[in-house]
Amino acid sequence: MFVAGLQSETNTFAPWPTGARAFEEGGVRRGADVLRGQGPDHKTAQLWRDLCLRDGHDFTPGLFAWAQPSGPIVQAVYEGLRDEILSELSSQGPFDIVLLFLHGAMVSTACNDCEADLVRRVRDIVGEGAVIGVELDPHCHLTQPLIDAADAVILMKHYPHDDYLERAVELYSLCLAKARGEVRPTSEIFDCRMVGFYPTTQEPMASLVGRFEEIERETGVLSVSFAHGFPWGDTPDTGSRVLVITDRDPSLAARLSKQIGAEIYAARKALLPRFPGVDAALADAVATPGLVVVADTADNAGGGAPGDNTSLLKAMLDRGVPAAALGAIWDPIAAAACADAGVGARLKLRIGGKSGPASAQPLDVEATVRAVRERHDQAGLGNSRTDMGLSVWIEVDGIDVVLNSIRTQVFSPDAFTGLGIDLAAKKIVAVKSSQHFHAGFAPIASKVIRAATHGAIQMDFAALPYVKKIDLNYYPRVDDPLA
Ligand SMILES: [Zn+2]
Repeated sequence: MFVAGLQSETNTFAPWPTGARAFEEGGVRRGADVLRGQGPDHKTAQLWRDLCLRDGHDFTPGLFAWAQPSGPIVQAVYEGLRDEILSELSSQGPFDIVLLFLHGAMVSTACNDCEADLVRRVRDIVGEGAVIGVELDPHCHLTQPLIDAADAVILMKHYPHDDYLERAVELYSLCLAKARGEVRPTSEIFDCRMVGFYPTTQEPMASLVGRFEEIERETGVLSVSFAHGFPWGDTPDTGSRVLVITDRDPSLAARLSKQIGAEIYAARKALLPRFPGVDAALADAVATPGLVVVADTADNAGGGAPGDNTSLLKAMLDRGVPAAALGAIWDPIAAAACADAGVGARLKLRIGGKSGPASAQPLDVEATVRAVRERHDQAGLGNSRTDMGLSVWIEVDGIDVVLNSIRTQVFSPDAFTGLGIDLAAKKIVAVKSSQHFHAGFAPIASKVIRAATHGAIQMDFAALPYVKKIDLNYYPRVDDPLA
């Protein structure tokens, strides 16, 4: 078995390209390096290694690379990483099974579907006799060429994606069964003609995930996945799709994918996000007893936003909200200035607002430096760790603000508490994240408010300025596109 990974969730509307530095900062792990570490790619590779050891199979780890999302990947950078995986396959093979940990929404400056491109080239090397399994993020552009090139594609079901290891086990088992000739996976896709955002922590999506699992228990069904799609990646295939894999039964796969697609489609109006604006969100947070978490959904670095938008912080300062914290504003320059000034220093700072129009204006503040951590990190999904780089806790007019230097969304309370900020004493905690924060913060929150903030990730799906997406007959742009 050979395993490798190559991931970034390309926001084609983001102004900055994703280049070599983005992958170096996110992580480029070669060979055995991936087996030491705490990120989701390490965890997945370690799991596949442990399963191989348990079952007595040879295991070869290849390249694993991940970049925090931004604009399209510079073509030469994509090809360099891709070709490294391909040359590992050629030089270290032959292999019976190849498992790939990919994203599904990776776009380079010359390719709309990097995953299909990669998997086709893997197939050319390993041949039809080998089994290729692919694990994807549900925020993928699920395309027929990818499905055709792989033997099995399995998506994470949860958003937050805390189930990536469970899906990795399923993929391992399914590919092993195929290699042994015990099953013959056949896959069918149904296009829901929807563009949306589907947190699985709330209804009706939570129940729909239960339905997928119920259908997976039916005879002959091997896997059910729902590709949410990634609305901020403009490609010919952007949109929400259902994927069903059955054991040598294409008509059952087609019937079930259509049936599940129809159930999701029937719920489309209830699934459409209706988030309060910033003023309404803050008023609600102030009026609600207990600790309220307000999500700055539009400035989520995990979806390719810059992470340095200042408008929510400005609204909180203007309103004078009590006992509040906000994190993390990506500002390596200000973080370095605070670190140099030292704990206790009081200084005039210009923070955030530097990356472009989606960042709003920089904010001029008087800040007191409360804590400095050179290599801060936070808990990520599935017991992983996420680097935040040099990070500082500053206090601005009574609000505790985290500035960091490695661009990332906030996953977990220790993004704050790891710097010494006491969240138990807070009324409002504002986090730059669309949904992944939910796994870590829901247990300590009396209420979670996803706010329609200003930034690069807008939830008005009817108004997204698609140029490449072929089919504009989608909900909510069209009320009933399947009619
Ligand atoms: Zn995702």
